[in-house]
Amino acid sequence: MFVRAGRRIVKDIFAALESEVRSYCRTWPTVFDRASGSYLYSEDGTPYLDFFAGAGALNYGHNNPLLKRKLLEYLERDGVTHGLDQATVAKREFLNAFNEKVLKPRGLNYKVQFPGPTGTNSVEAALKLARKITGRESIISFTNAFHGMTLGSLSVTGNSMKRGGAGIPLVHATPMPYDNYFDGQYPDFLYFERLLEDSGSGLNEPAAVIVETLQGEGGINSSRPEWLRGLAELCQRHNMLLIVDDVQMGCGRTGPFFSFEDAGIQPDIVCLSKSIGGYGLPMALTLIKPELDVWEPGEHNGTFRGNNPAFVTATEAINQYWSDDKLEKSTRAKGERIGQVLQELVDTYGGAIAKGRGLARGIGFDDTTVAGKVSKAAFDRKLIVETSGPDSEVVKIMPPLTISDEDLEKGLDIFRDSVRSVLA
Ligand code: PMP
Repeated sequence: MFVRAGRRIVKDIFAALESEVRSYCRTWPTVFDRASGSYLYSEDGTPYLDFFAGAGALNYGHNNPLLKRKLLEYLERDGVTHGLDQATVAKREFLNAFNEKVLKPRGLNYKVQFPGPTGTNSVEAALKLARKITGRESIISFTNAFHGMTLGSLSVTGNSMKRGGAGIPLVHATPMPYDNYFDGQYPDFLYFERLLEDSGSGLNEPAAVIVETLQGEGGINSSRPEWLRGLAELCQRHNMLLIVDDVQMGCGRTGPFFSFEDAGIQPDIVCLSKSIGGYGLPMALTLIKPELDVWEPGEHNGTFRGNNPAFVTATEAINQYWSDDKLEKSTRAKGERIGQVLQELVDTYGGAIAKGRGLARGIGFDDTTVAGKVSKAAFDRKLIVETSGPDSEVVKIMPPLTISDEDLEKGLDIFRDSVRSVLA
């Protein structure tokens, strides 16, 4: 289909009308139409195996039939669609399921804030609340962190290209080295703690530390449980709040529902979005330790905080997948399988490192041009994989958690072949 845009004849309406800012459609240049389970289908019916899962928004697959059934029933009976923060039946059912099946079994006690429906909305609420609680301005973030595109979230994000887009100074945030930033050459938190303790360091007293337990956008950098525990202790010693941004790694991506469970820590504030709605519908939560819930009514507001159809699919996702530990176990097992294949590739070709845990995996290549080429080769072979990291040097593997063993193996075969085609 060709359309006329000014004096240029351009290939399609996307190039003609949609802003230059579009990005994923450049990586995967086809027009998608349907999606089901672990597959996306282009408009000519070609199936693409999806090892990206909506950047972690589709942990339970595309159009999951169990969730779809509940959604269709809800729409059919004219259940509330737009609900601001009104009390609704759908919200009550979600809160009950979340409390009974997610929080209580893990010994966690949080108040639930519904911010706007995106990950960055959850992060902004967390930062604002931490500043209100402590009366301090400064936030500590980590190298290669990613927290979203609005100004507060950008100020705690590492990527220089994304930061550059702000167009104003990004202030009141200080980056510290993430786990293993110096390849084990320095003890954990050496620099961070020294600055905190030295009244001459120039570091303002931080309100909070914000951290991802595994950096999904920053290069599939996984932190060790002992590093996270060390961070939680450091926060306690220095009276800083600990915010875990579980927007991408939460909802089972690394195995357990919360990615910090293996470390045994209890953050003060937790950000959730992406797969919390279950079906790919926008929804976000900011979880707050009860004693820290100092918001005034209406102090943090937003029109789209009550996406009730998302509450319906979120509730069903919890009921279906978090009533027992089956999904957690299968995620860990499938993750190990991917890790094994990635390690074999690294051993075969060299110049690379296998990264990640659970079903958030990747290979980082020394030659930063390789990951993009592998992603392209995979797309040519009908597999969707994205790149990650400051120089897009990591190929990232994030299938739906519900992928079948058969599709997982099929995808891994294509992935092997794609790497071979670039490196052999
Ligand atoms: N935090 C993390 C860890 C993320 O991965 C993302 C999105 N990639 C965000 C926040 C921002 O979420 P959203 O794009 O929904 O604003």
